[in-house]
Amino acid sequence: MAEKILVTGGTGYIGSHTTVELIEKNFETVIIDNLCNSSTEALKGITEITGTEPAFENFDLCDYEKLLDCLRKHKNIKAIIHFAALKAVGESVEKPLEYYKNNLVSLLNLLMAMREFHIPALVFSSSCTVYGEPDKLPVTEESPIKSASSPYGNTKQISEEIIHDTISAVPGIRAICLRYFNPIGAHKSSLIGELPLGTPMNLIPYITQTVAGIREELRIFGNDYDTPDGTGIRDYIDVGDLARAHVKAISRLLEDRNKKPVEIFNLGTGKGLSVLDIVKTFEKATGMQVRYKFYPRRPGDISRVYADTSLANKELQWKADTPLEETLLSAWKWEKRIRNLS
Ligand code: NAD
Ligand code: UDP
Repeated sequence: MAEKILVTGGTGYIGSHTTVELIEKNFETVIIDNLCNSSTEALKGITEITGTEPAFENFDLCDYEKLLDCLRKHKNIKAIIHFAALKAVGESVEKPLEYYKNNLVSLLNLLMAMREFHIPALVFSSSCTVYGEPDKLPVTEESPIKSASSPYGNTKQISEEIIHDTISAVPGIRAICLRYFNPIGAHKSSLIGELPLGTPMNLIPYITQTVAGIREELRIFGNDYDTPDGTGIRDYIDVGDLARAHVKAISRLLEDRNKKPVEIFNLGTGKGLSVLDIVKTFEKATGMQVRYKFYPRRPGDISRVYADTSLANKELQWKADTPLEETLLSAWKWEKRIRNLS
């Protein structure tokens, strides 16, 4: 019988891609999402790609009674992947209470429900923001955690601590925290992808919207960083590769019960690329020109970060191997599809 996985935030960007990968590996999926940053279109996309419609429950994870009802209805959940969170760094500075409440109460509720229903495994979406501006590159899982520069980043640090403390105290639960670097791109079918609401904050949606004519020009934030071309350096990982790492993490939790109760893995490519590297590769991959201008640095941005991924490569037997050009082309095809461009 297929093992049942609960995916919170499963209609969102990374959750929808992961649900596809889970279904393709014969897991049964149940999605919880309150659609505060996604829509049921993602369910249609998942169904069209896989031929299977995931079970879907629309409610807010901060509502503990609804979570309990949901787990009474969907019995025998073997593991949870917890994507659901608010994630806009800038907005979190404006609305710290909303961010702390949403991201922390939903995690607390999930952990209490795991204890109540004896659900033994959790995969948690963490972020490389926990490393802040690193002293040494690439960053390993042992690199120091820096004090968070936004309430959003702080929710990830606090969440990891809550998970550690809970798992030390509640026998029979294990967790894997995955620290994502910069997820980009869309499913190769163009049926699911990233749907930023309003003006995009992230680089790739801003590029695709500029090329689609929705934005006038890409504003490159800073060309005076201590990097070879002066623009910021990040580790951009294909969302499909990222999704597949979650399936590996789930399999590790379900199959190999002798590992540490809490494990942490960096998920990136191990390669640092500048904003200009991305612009040039996008132009090469798509044949489209990106209009851009240099602007002052964006407050809160760091100059560079990229991952040491050797732990995930070895322990999860996983590697991000989608070529960057393919990923950037998938982002452009997705933008064209949602804008009805030819
Ligand atoms: P997303 O906004 O596309 O998906 C999150 C989903 O969670 C959305 O569908 C939203 O409606 C849902 N949600 C939020 N709060 C909820 C609640 N209280 N109850 C029910 N549903 C709720 O974001 P994403 O990019 O797919 O990110 C997924 C996870 O990965 C998040 O935890 C995010 O912080 C983390 N992460 C993302 C990135 C990135 O660049 N995308 C990087 C590092 C970490
Ligand atoms: N960036 C940019 N213009 C934009 C958005 C982002 O120059 O409109 C730069 C940003 O300064 C950083 C990189 O692109 O160097 C990645 O930013 P993003 O917001 O996508 O991810 P972050 O690493 O900040 O989470």
